[in-house]
Amino acid sequence: MRKTYDTMILGCGEAGVFAGYELIRRNPGMKVLIVDQGQDIYHRSCPIVAGKVRECIDCKVCHTMCGFGGAGAFSDGKYNFTTAFGGWLTDFMPEQEVMELIDYVDEINTAHGATREVFSTETPAAQALRKKALEFDLHLLQARVKHLGTENNLRILTNLYEDLRRDITFQFNTAVTAIRQAEGGYCLETADGDQYLAKFLIAAPGRSGAEWFAQQCRQLGLPMTNNQIDIGVRVELPALIFEHITDVVYESKLIYRTKQYGDQVRTFCMNPYGHVVAENVEGIHTVNGHSYSDPKLRSENTNFALLVSNHFTEPFDEPYRYGKHIASLSNMLAGGVLVQRFGDLVRGVRSNAHRMGKSTTHPTLTAAVPGDLSLALPKRQLDDIIEMIYALDKLAPGTANYDTLLYGAEVKFYSARLKLSTHLETSLPNFFAAGDGAGITRGLAQAGASGVRAARAITQRIQGA
Ligand SMILES: Cc1cc2nc3c(=O)[nH]c(=O)nc-3n(C[C@H](O)[C@H](O)[C@H](O)COP(=O)(O)OP(=O)(O)OC[C@H]3O[C@@H](n4cnc5c(N)ncnc54)[C@H](O)[C@@H]3O)c2cc1C
Repeated sequence: MRKTYDTMILGCGEAGVFAGYELIRRNPGMKVLIVDQGQDIYHRSCPIVAGKVRECIDCKVCHTMCGFGGAGAFSDGKYNFTTAFGGWLTDFMPEQEVMELIDYVDEINTAHGATREVFSTETPAAQALRKKALEFDLHLLQARVKHLGTENNLRILTNLYEDLRRDITFQFNTAVTAIRQAEGGYCLETADGDQYLAKFLIAAPGRSGAEWFAQQCRQLGLPMTNNQIDIGVRVELPALIFEHITDVVYESKLIYRTKQYGDQVRTFCMNPYGHVVAENVEGIHTVNGHSYSDPKLRSENTNFALLVSNHFTEPFDEPYRYGKHIASLSNMLAGGVLVQRFGDLVRGVRSNAHRMGKSTTHPTLTAAVPGDLSLALPKRQLDDIIEMIYALDKLAPGTANYDTLLYGAEVKFYSARLKLSTHLETSLPNFFAAGDGAGITRGLAQAGASGVRAARAITQRIQGA
């Protein structure tokens, strides 16, 4: 089958959805196709969440990562109004423009049911916290943040889907296997041998499609760079320990430079009263977290990642493979995600079922297997993490308690980064790229903003023609 459209969007995550939204709002009547290997918002169902299985069964297409809403659909939905983290769009356009795009995406979310409540680090209480953190050499990044909440996030996406499906053709359950240049534009080939053609293409394959996309870009002769990976653990502790922080800024992004190695360690994705979850990245089990805004769905714990940033220099250029090897070591030892009490780690003993049974902090990821993180994580990263935990203990006493739980490994992969113009166009004309898969964003706000940016560039080109 061969079908032709005006514009095709590969990937229906945050970047693809907002690119589609902007295209049809600004170009009524435009024939837009969005292709995704996952399902629509009504049919995404992880078998673990549905209670059908206890552990990840490596579904061919992961329902948690793929489909309408992409990786963000079941996320906690922390929408960060900042250019300080969550992407590198300021490398392509002025900061003011990025912030306008972030605000614009937020307006669309709000029109589709998102809360208006925003947490700010500019309040006197947040400033006092920032000052206190500095006393311990911890640097609190400032940003306004909206907590959409996992359950509200799904509702907002459902409203968006209902709004868009009237004007956009969605092709779900369809993996694109190849991107080719075709006469007058581009062709997306699918596993079933179908071909979709259009003059304009926006590729937004997210992190789940990043490896495949990098391969396609290499074949198309598009230059890319990649040299970073973040490795660490997810920390879980009683919510009370961090309450004086999470009540003020909801999510604190704290950065620390270790004395031992001079490495940067940061807190990431903080989930007050949240749940730790397993995540499957191409067959490798890593760990993540989320939290509900509905108090009834909350746990008694807060969780957050502690990540060590690793920048590689020549000749090594395979950080993705390095991260996968480290995560697969903890998988090998535990058969999935590994958990260890901080006290056991420092004492140099393995956490086992008996020791975990004595823990006063109860793990929310019950499928995690007690073990020894020092057998899985490299010494340098582990030393960095331990030093950071002691630093955090000064700001939030109790962080370094014996029963603080550490899950591993948490690995944040960076997609290879495409060379793009200020309009997010590749070196091939009318071929744009957006979102995490292009290596230019790492969060909902900037991913959505990048989709809008690419859609506006296409609009300008059509309307200026
Ligand atoms: C558990 C979790 C929690 C998170 N929490 C937050 C948070 O609170 N705040 C925040 O800002 N960010 C969060 N993030 C990150 C955020 O979800 C991403 O930054 C965002 O989703 C990126 O959007 P995207 O459109 O670039 O990619 P994605 O959302 O990953 O979407 C890409 C889409 O492309 C499709 N695709 C890929 N390859 C192909 C192919 N070959 N053929 C067809 N379709 C393909 C995929 O199926 C997917 O649906 C979280 C991520 C995870 C996994």
